[in-house]
Amino acid sequence: MKLDFSKPIGDPFVEIGRLGLIEFCGKDRFNDFEEFRKHIERVFNIYTFKTSGRIGQIFSSNSKFTHNSTGKNLNERLRQALEYYDDLIKESFDGYCISCGKKDDLCNVSKTIFPLTSGNSNTNFTSFFSNKFLMCKECMSSLFFTPVNMQKVAGRMAFLISSNQEINKFWSEETVSGFKSNVVKNIDSLVDSKINIFENFIYKVIEELQEEELFGDITFYLLSNVDKGSEIELIHIYENQMRFINIVAPNFFKNELPSKQKDEWNYLIFKYSAKDKKDKYRERKENIDGKNKTIKFNNEVIEQKNYKATIRYFNPLISSFIQGKSILRFFKKEKVSWLLTTIYLKEIRNMREERLQVLKKVADGLQLLNSGDDKDFIKRVLFPIEKTKSGSELRTKLRELMRKVLAKDNTKTLFTADEMVLQILPNGESWQETKDILLIALYEKLSFDEEIEKELEKLTQGGEYE
Ligand SMILES: [Zn+2]
Repeated sequence: MKLDFSKPIGDPFVEIGRLGLIEFCGKDRFNDFEEFRKHIERVFNIYTFKTSGRIGQIFSSNSKFTHNSTGKNLNERLRQALEYYDDLIKESFDGYCISCGKKDDLCNVSKTIFPLTSGNSNTNFTSFFSNKFLMCKECMSSLFFTPVNMQKVAGRMAFLISSNQEINKFWSEETVSGFKSNVVKNIDSLVDSKINIFENFIYKVIEELQEEELFGDITFYLLSNVDKGSEIELIHIYENQMRFINIVAPNFFKNELPSKQKDEWNYLIFKYSAKDKKDKYRERKENIDGKNKTIKFNNEVIEQKNYKATIRYFNPLISSFIQGKSILRFFKKEKVSWLLTTIYLKEIRNMREERLQVLKKVADGLQLLNSGDDKDFIKRVLFPIEKTKSGSELRTKLRELMRKVLAKDNTKTLFTADEMVLQILPNGESWQETKDILLIALYEKLSFDEEIEKELEKLTQGGEYE
């Protein structure tokens, strides 16, 4: 019997197992079952003898690898698991494989034997289906390799599937080689990302991928422990998010801390990792040798110069970015450059160049009302814009300011009627976002003292977009 694992499968679980299997075995086709069975033996051996306490996180307590009845005799546990697998291979039911649709020569499997498949919360997963179902031998075998190709994140198991096969390959190579080296080192074989925040983990993976010039849409999956009631969390990352990171942050904290002048984006990432809203250094908990320890950001990152550890702390900027929420409010608060803002708006928000130019023109035009006293200008012009509470209020305020500009210099128009309707506040665009873009363009050129800074903070509390 030939086994062919070379074709992608539409079921994410089977697919991540198939990719792990190929990497683990070093090939995707086998001439006969005997050739393949050596690899099954190898991986079952690891699950039986080397996965230590974590095994319960991937297999249900009804699986062959965890069942109580063989808890004291691991050799017997391995024998039973292999026997069960051999029996499945011998079966030959007619019908269609539940995962790939392949016809006939199927086995009738119970989902509790597989890793991470006992939940029932998502219809796209094998796990949704009834307890017993028909599956082809390739899909059934692939499922046994899913743990090999996942990483521990936030006490759960994470993996990714991309539209770009190169990305899948990159992930599998990294993960499976980590798995194998853990086995050699005789430690918990499941690969541990050592990151306890899903969004940070995704950010780290994007960082690595863009360094390799790999881009594509990716879905990240996070699965909970099977016996605690399985749950699946999905986050989809678009190719343009990866391209954006590639433009603004090609080197992530390689050797030194970033500065605002040299590396603005990474500087922001660092800033939002370092301190919380109360301006206190963040800390995180980590379980070291069974003990919960509190690790402080300034010790770990700054004193030990361990810049990559930045990613282990909660970061509201990363969190919003990864979840696809607008990050303009962070940009406004930090008074970032117009350059970074336009890259973000073009790459991520698909904003038209024309619109950006008009908004910049309005911001520059307003400078005419600045008579050299930034503080006065901020109070008279910027705060009233900041205070507007609706699209129509903002429109009225801008028209009022236009009159003031004209009163100073009747050759200068802030905007035309057309520009107001089509570029500044077109239908369907968020007026709050428009306001913030204008203000970012204005703030960049102004200096703020402490008093103004405090007033501004009061005005912009909250600041989530509707
Ligand atoms: Zn199949």
